[in-house]
Amino acid sequence: MSTLRYDVTTGDWVAFSSVRAARPDGFKRGNEVHATVPPALDPACPFCPGNEALTPEQTEVEPDPLDPSRWSVRIFANKFPVLEPKGSTLRHMSGPLFREMDGYGRHELVVESPDHARSLSEQSVDHVQRLLTVLHRRSRALSREGSLEVVQIFKNHGSSAGSSMLHPHFQILATPIVPRQIRIKYQMAAEYYQITGSSVYQDLCRAELEAGTRVVCQNSEFVAFAPFAARSPYETWLVPLRVAPTFEMADPSTLTGLSEILIDVLSRMRRALGNPPYNLIVNSAPRRHTDEPDFVWHIEIVPRLATAAGFELGTGMAINSVLPEAAAETLRSA
Ligand SMILES: [Zn+2]
Repeated sequence: MSTLRYDVTTGDWVAFSSVRAARPDGFKRGNEVHATVPPALDPACPFCPGNEALTPEQTEVEPDPLDPSRWSVRIFANKFPVLEPKGSTLRHMSGPLFREMDGYGRHELVVESPDHARSLSEQSVDHVQRLLTVLHRRSRALSREGSLEVVQIFKNHGSSAGSSMLHPHFQILATPIVPRQIRIKYQMAAEYYQITGSSVYQDLCRAELEAGTRVVCQNSEFVAFAPFAARSPYETWLVPLRVAPTFEMADPSTLTGLSEILIDVLSRMRRALGNPPYNLIVNSAPRRHTDEPDFVWHIEIVPRLATAAGFELGTGMAINSVLPEAAAETLRSA
């Protein structure tokens, strides 16, 4: 069983899950993201159609609109979970410094499509909208569970971005605590709101649209820009113009616009940077703050073109070799 331990020196909770060490590595079979194009169906892949019995029972499935006997998106529990829906959220103390709790939570896999090789940027707007609708529905269901504080949706693309399976997929990890980075990010937005009376994300969107130099692209629902203090080269944020504190509270009618801009940004990165490994992170307010106007959910796409080294690990201060104005210009013209 996994456990969570609290670091009194940093305020971080750390998850310990020994089962993670047993994960298969789909990239070891010569399938690195830059290598030759893999087949659309891999008989050895547990995420491919025909191998459904190799994964835990699905929690959500979206049928193929053209052939309802086939699926187009599947969600199931991770066979190698960081957190599991058993145990309790009680903290145990061994003396005043060592706080520990069960690794309670959810860890689910979202297989984007039956196609083993088609990346998110190559999917149709209709399909991405279907995928986002399933993610929206599932995160809404998880956010109703009172013992879960944060429903974190993310995607790792490529082994150097932390992915162990080539078949394109998202993950949902729901935690019983608010991880420190989310705590700080929320606090910054709450303080800004207290001082100015408006949301930092709405003000930021307005200012970025006005400046224009860091905007990558936009549509009627979203704006994509390279943030002023981007931590990584080509880091890009997708922020909704119709605001909501969490992704699951976003109006479903905005998911078409989101699909379009997501494909647009990922295609630009693919053309400009040659299919880079990346992490896609959906940022939402912690569940207990969802009735407050200070936070606006948004997506961060972080290409993994550099490795954090000693200084970054020691200080938490990023070193970025590409100014966001130059990154946005490159992506705009890609
Ligand atoms: Zn597959």
